[in-house]
Amino acid sequence: MRRRLAGTGPLVGAHMSAAGGLVRAVERAAAAGCRTLQVFTKNSNQWDGKPVVAGEAAAFRKAAADAGLAPLVAHSAYLINLASPDPVVRTRSVGALVDEIERCDANGIPYLVLHPGSHGGDGEGVGLDRIARGLDEAAAKCPSSGTTVLLETAAGQGACLGHDFAHLAAIFERADSRPRLALCFDTCHVHAAGYDVVTKDGWRKTLDELDASCGLGLVKVIHANDSKKERGCRVDRHERIGHGAIGLKGFANLMTERAFEEVPKILETPKDEEGTWDRDGLAALRKLARRKAG
Ligand code: ZN
Ligand code: MN
Ligand code: MN
Repeated sequence: MRRRLAGTGPLVGAHMSAAGGLVRAVERAAAAGCRTLQVFTKNSNQWDGKPVVAGEAAAFRKAAADAGLAPLVAHSAYLINLASPDPVVRTRSVGALVDEIERCDANGIPYLVLHPGSHGGDGEGVGLDRIARGLDEAAAKCPSSGTTVLLETAAGQGACLGHDFAHLAAIFERADSRPRLALCFDTCHVHAAGYDVVTKDGWRKTLDELDASCGLGLVKVIHANDSKKERGCRVDRHERIGHGAIGLKGFANLMTERAFEEVPKILETPKDEEGTWDRDGLAALRKLARRKAG
C-alpha cells in the first residue's frame, strides 16, 4: 500500500469495518484519508471470537504503520457488562474483557474502548463497585498487558452508568487498576446525557466539569459523532457531522479545543456504500480545525 499524506492536519479518523480481515479496515481507513482508526477485533455482538493468528496480526500492524495510522483503537463487544446483576454475566464479561485486552496486545492496539455497564436496577453505587472490581479482576489476569482500557462516556439509556462524569470519577477512585484506565469522550453521548457541547460557554463548562471530576488529561480518544436527538434525551442515536443537534457549531468547539489537540477524533457516524459520508465528515472536522488559525 502506498503511504498517504496521513501525517498532516488534525488527528481524525473513523471506525471501519474489519469484514474480510483487519487489513481491510486499514485499507478502508486509508481510502477515506484517516490518520487514526478504530476497529472491532472480533464480532461485536458475540461472546467468542476466532483466536488471533500471529501472521494476520503482523500484517495488520505493518499495514497500519505503512498507512500512517496511529494511534490504533479497538472497541470492545457490546455484550460485556461488568455491572450486571447476574454473577454469571459478570464472570463472563471479565473473561471477554481479558480476551479483548489480549487481542489488542497481539494486534499492536494501545487503546480499548469499553462501555462502563448497566446496573440493571441494582443502583448506581452497587454498579460502580462492580465495574471497578471487574476491571481489577481483568487487569489481574493480564498483568503484563500494555493496553489501556478507556471507559466511554454514556448517553444515559436505561440503567447504563457513565452518563454522569461523577460515575467515571467514582470508578477511577475505586479501581486499583486505575493506572491502566483512561477515558473515551463521545460527543453524541455527552450531549444526550445533558451536557452542553454546542454553545461556547456550555462547552467550557462541560470541560471544566470533566476536568474537575476526572481530569481532561485522561481523555485519550474522542468519538466525534453528531446526535439525531436533542440534548438530554438520554438516547444514543449517532448522526453525520453537521447533520444533527450538535451541528458544526458544536464541532467547532471540539476541533479548536487546545486540551484535545493531540487527542484522536474518530467518527462513528452513519456510512454510505461509497464512503462519501466518512470523507465528508472528516473534511468537515478538518475545516473546523483550520478556523483556529484565523
Ligand atoms: Zn461505544
Ligand atoms: Mn462511541
Ligand atoms: Mn453510541
